[in-house]
Amino acid sequence: MRMRDRYKTLPHISLWLGQQVRTNSETLTTANDTQHSVHDGVTISSMISVDDDTTMEINRFRKGSDGTWVLLPYVPMVSGEGFMRFIKFLGNTLIHPVKTFKVLRAKGKAERSILFLVMQKSEAFIHLEWRRKWYRLFRKDISAVQNEGDTPLKVVFPKAEEATRRYAEILGGEPGSALPEIILGAPFTAHIMSGVAIGKDSSSGVVDESGAVFGYQNLRVLDGSIVPGNLGVNPSLTITALSEFAMSRVPVFNQERASSIKPVLFSKPLDGQVSALTGMGDLMKVINR
Ligand SMILES: Cc1cc2nc3c(=O)[nH]c(=O)nc-3n(C[C@H](O)[C@H](O)[C@H](O)COP(=O)(O)OP(=O)(O)OC[C@H]3O[C@@H](n4cnc5c(N)ncnc54)[C@H](O)[C@@H]3O)c2cc1C
Repeated sequence: MRMRDRYKTLPHISLWLGQQVRTNSETLTTANDTQHSVHDGVTISSMISVDDDTTMEINRFRKGSDGTWVLLPYVPMVSGEGFMRFIKFLGNTLIHPVKTFKVLRAKGKAERSILFLVMQKSEAFIHLEWRRKWYRLFRKDISAVQNEGDTPLKVVFPKAEEATRRYAEILGGEPGSALPEIILGAPFTAHIMSGVAIGKDSSSGVVDESGAVFGYQNLRVLDGSIVPGNLGVNPSLTITALSEFAMSRVPVFNQERASSIKPVLFSKPLDGQVSALTGMGDLMKVINR
């Protein structure tokens, strides 16, 4: 945006640049301090569909990897939205200070806690726009904004919260919400995407399906920013697939050299490293069996 609007070095870039930045509608919840040791195995091994739109991935961390709970602290689960959610959190903390302390305390968390990565595929986005902000001394710069008429980013995921509570209950742990989400009233994400989205032409996107920027020759973007929608799952394989597809459209300069490049072969999952629970359906029934 700086190169297009401020320095005018790339003035032909589409106006769609930064207009629909998506977050995969992501949030994080936890089942803390369960009665079971849950740390053994690969980090993400299974996924629950709690409704048509929402998936939850079960994340485990090796014993001692408690830093995740330091970087993003959790407190006993508080539902709701905005200021009322914050007030509920304060009330909860005053009534149950020990419980809050236990969930907040990172030590030992990885061995006995599960982190749920909640994602939705339904539409929601923010825009990047030039705005003056008081904290920049009213200097104009790029800001993330939500405009009237947008489908706003969600901060409330009732089905995911319900599933987290049930999961924690079955494992004998305490369900948790991310503290910064409660304080800031905004969701957290590691899946920022779509600022340079694929479109048919510059009136509907910034790049074509091979990542080539509309209005320019030999300028390509190949990363998460070209993904044109919320995936509802972790994005890196899609980013890799899109990049591989884009590169397959680039003409080969030296056939001899290209044919000497060895393809990457992935190994099969190791026995015992993948959850025995397979298929679709009501996971709660399977767990309760
Ligand atoms: C904690 C965490 C956990 C995650 N877990 C998963 C997961 O389990 N599964 C999954 O699918 N996704 C996961 N993600 C998301 C995934 O990592 C990202 O979606 C993906 O890496 C984005 O790829 P990218 O190519 O768009 O950007 P990046 O992977 O961020 O690559 C951008 C690169 O550009 C470089 N760079 C930046 N500025 C410059 C500059 N000025 N000059 C030169 N180089 C520059 C950076 O150093 C970086 O190497 C996770 C993300 C986080 C933060």
